[in-house]
Order: sequence, then C-alpha cells, then structure tokens
Amino acid sequence: MCGIVGAIADRDVVPVLIEGLKRLEYRGYDSSGIAIFESERLRRIRRTGRVSEMAAAAAEEDLHASLGIGHTRWATHGGVTEANAHPHISHDELALVHNGIIENHEAQRERLRLLGYVFESQTDTEVIAHLIHYHMHQGCDDFGIGLRFEDIAQ
Ligand code: GLU
Repeated sequence: MCGIVGAIADRDVVPVLIEGLKRLEYRGYDSSGIAIFESERLRRIRRTGRVSEMAAAAAEEDLHASLGIGHTRWATHGGVTEANAHPHISHDELALVHNGIIENHEAQRERLRLLGYVFESQTDTEVIAHLIHYHMHQGCDDFGIGLRFEDIAQ
C-alpha cells in the first residue's frame, strides 16, 4: 500500500519527507519520490527501488525547501518505472501524489489529450494532475472553496 507525506515548515523539509517515507516503507512499495517547491519552482526526484536510493539522489541534487510532498508507490496502473513514480507534475505548476485508483482514467486521459495535455506516464494518477491544472486555468484556483473533487472527477 502506498505512503504519502507532506510537510511545510520554516526549516528544510527534505529530511522530514525522507524520514516520513522511510517510516512508511513497511507498508510495501516499488518506487518513491519527492517534489519540493524551492525558490518559486518545482523540483522532483523519483527512483524505483528503495527510499534510500531516492534519498541519495536528493542529496546529490542538494535539494532544500520549506514545502514538499513525498510518496511511496505500489503500482496499479503502469509498470514500475521512474516515469510512473509519483509525484506527477503538470506544466511545472503543480505536483501531486495519490493513493488508490482512478476508475475513469481512460476517459479522462482521452478528454485531456484533446485539450492538448501530453502524458509522460502510464499511470491513472497523472490525469488528476492535468485535470487540476486545467481547472486552475479556468479560474478555479481555490480548491478549498471554488472547486470540489466531485466537480472535476465526473
Ligand atoms: N494507481 C496509482 C499508480 O499506479 C497509485 C498507486 C498507489 O496507491 O501507490 O500509480
């Protein structure tokens, strides 16, 4: 079962994300990744295999940020590849992690392709990243008030 971690703080959260993912390893996973918002831009590290391998890659990239998310994946849609590992990103504007299955992902994928979205993974999850991106640019930029998941997932 996948694991999800999120952190925001006035200190570097990269060690918090890594430690959180390590604590979730017991649940089982095949790949892992983190996305951070650093100096106004998104950066992401993903690896198949152990969290420690992803953590080593994050250390090599010298990642530091005060906001980030992390994920350990248990693949359901798409093989165990780096491209399928979470977080998924849409247009360098949002990063998303997800636990579970998007039942109507094929229909959503087709719809989003027609809207010009290009998919980089085989996962069901990536449709949600692009769908949120699409709705953000329709003026729904306040998820808490203006946009409910039920509204976009039809
Ligand atoms: N269905 C998603 C995928 O295959 C999420 C799997 C999970 O819960 O880790 O990427």
